[in-house]
Amino acid sequence: MNRFDYVRAGTVAEAVQAFGSGARFIAGGTNLIDLMKYEVEKPGRLIDITRLPLDRIEAHGDGLRIGALVTNAKVAYDDQVAARYPLLRNAILAGASAQLRNAASTGGNLLQRTRCYYFYDVATPCNKRAPGSGCPAIGGMNRIHAIFGTSEHCIATHPSDMCIALAALEATVQVSGPQGDRSIPFSEFHRLPGDSPETDTNLAPGEIIVSVDLPESRFPQHYTYLKLRDRLSYAFALVSVAAALELDGDTVKTARLALGGVAHKPWRNREAEALLEGRPATRESFQAAADLIVAEAKPQSENGFKIDLARRAIVRGLEQAAAGTPQSLSDKRIQ
Ligand SMILES: Cc1cc2nc3c(=O)[nH]c(=O)nc-3n(C[C@H](O)[C@H](O)[C@H](O)COP(=O)(O)OP(=O)(O)OC[C@H]3O[C@@H](n4cnc5c(N)ncnc54)[C@H](O)[C@@H]3O)c2cc1C
Ligand code: SF4
Repeated sequence: MNRFDYVRAGTVAEAVQAFGSGARFIAGGTNLIDLMKYEVEKPGRLIDITRLPLDRIEAHGDGLRIGALVTNAKVAYDDQVAARYPLLRNAILAGASAQLRNAASTGGNLLQRTRCYYFYDVATPCNKRAPGSGCPAIGGMNRIHAIFGTSEHCIATHPSDMCIALAALEATVQVSGPQGDRSIPFSEFHRLPGDSPETDTNLAPGEIIVSVDLPESRFPQHYTYLKLRDRLSYAFALVSVAAALELDGDTVKTARLALGGVAHKPWRNREAEALLEGRPATRESFQAAADLIVAEAKPQSENGFKIDLARRAIVRGLEQAAAGTPQSLSDKRIQ
């Protein structure tokens, strides 16, 4: 690890002011410290934001405001979240471990970096870590990589579970920075790699996440977070599906679908959602939506299996959501 300055901010304004070239905010540290140990990140200054007053969940209009420093565990076990946004609760509980969730913060979860093997290995090239050095995952080990929205410069996936639920719930990210405060719709928060894969999000330098706001709850009954991975727990998603439905009898009134493990950002396809709306909540409709989504998939040399996995996961996720299948917090097996 390199040498770095350490400052602890008491207010959001102080944190923003302390920012400068080579600085990083640190919250739970569960991702940043790992990256520093691997020498992927070499900040000259760490700005500790853990004392900022951003650790509350509170009512916000008809929705809920989750402070950036609320831990993942606190969000998952909050009564309001459990009753009104169970999709979010389930997505969080499908990720990491109890110990990590106790330390990991809401803001840090949004900004965790990809789990691409080459990104973590400073002995290899990687356009995300060292722009212009190349992407060995293309044609290399890419079993866990993206099938949607890739570029010739990077095929990494976004690793968060929580963000997949937040995308489906259409959350908004509130940020504060040198140019003032602003709101970023969740769909615009993360970026596709394009020709600058080193930039994961549309945050400007020095901007700090203050809160994540959830709109009015509309999917407390018909939702699912289905996460498919190599191990039952403590593993990142190969494919995950956040499905949320509003039903009018047996007809789909509103559909929201976001996929994880398949793209550089939570992957939504508005056409597939629109296709479902007004149709009966049947396997046939769900298959039509899944086919539409995977039609634009572009597999790499080792991850073609994700296309069929995604197709089947979408159908299963939608079926579970439509049926209001109770979701066990401890047993994550898919029967
Ligand atoms: C072994 C292991 C397994 C895991 N498994 C999963 C999993 O299955 N699913 C999953 O979703 N996640 C998983 N995680 C990731 C974990 O959820 C993240 O590490 C965590 O959410 C990051 O939060 P943090 O507060 O610790 O962030 P930190 O490590 O403190 O920060 C991460 C990044 O966010 C920035 N940052 C933090 N807070 C703010 C803010 N408010 N404003 C601006 N910038 C900020 C930091 O500068 C840094 O760049 C796993 C992690 C580990 C170590
Ligand atoms: S996929 Fe992206 S993160 Fe992985 S090696 Fe290529 S450029 Fe780096």
